Amino acid sequence: MDATRYPNLHISRHPLVDHKLSLLRDRTTEPKRFRELVRELSWLLGYEAMADLTTQPITIETPLEQMAGAELEPKVGLVPVLRAGLGMVDAMLELMPSAEVWHIGLYRDERSLKPVEYYNKLPDAATVQVCLILDPMLATGGSSAATVDILKAWGAARIKQVSLIAAPEGIATLSTAHPDVDIHVAAVDRALNERGYIVPGLGDAGDRQFGTFAGPSSEPGHDPADETAEVVRRLQRNLAGES
Ligand code: URA
Repeated sequence: MDATRYPNLHISRHPLVDHKLSLLRDRTTEPKRFRELVRELSWLLGYEAMADLTTQPITIETPLEQMAGAELEPKVGLVPVLRAGLGMVDAMLELMPSAEVWHIGLYRDERSLKPVEYYNKLPDAATVQVCLILDPMLATGGSSAATVDILKAWGAARIKQVSLIAAPEGIATLSTAHPDVDIHVAAVDRALNERGYIVPGLGDAGDRQFGTFAGPSSEPGHDPADETAEVVRRLQRNLAGES
């Protein structure tokens, strides 16, 4: 994928990010270590994603004298995409303890891969200026684009997406729908497979964090259904048409 086509896309170049991401991808990494790595990577990506937040001057007293200090200006909201995004929240709260956490529940219909909203308790007017959507995997981009629609209608002035791994199809979908949304990722992988998984990827980020390997998978499509494969093919045709 030609990343220069997307000025809103920021791929981390940090060696620690590359190192930790390789550990995260490894199929032998157990859920406990996987969760730790999601947290560590979220911290590093969050640090980069917030590099352009504005500050306002404040006066502080050190034990020795008064000086000019700085205080973060915008109010920040964290919007984890359930359920895999939950593992990214604590790291972001360590960076910004006063951030608000707003949950929006969208699930991907297993066959159509379309986002379906099932939980949204946002108050009428936006309480934050900057929103960070947290989702380890930016796959089709459908849930992210739908979340941005909700947050814009709510009144959020600035929205950023933070993901560990993105597929080119997801970047194209989100950037086309919302070119003003910055996308911060650790890596952009080759493609989506016919089941909607990112390849090479890391598998199901929810299952790997929470150790839920036994039951039917809800995200992404468990059966290689024709409809799922057709959605992926359509996204891939759109992507090819753009180049
Ligand atoms: N969600 C995941 O957890 N993994 C993928 O590869 C795609 C979507």
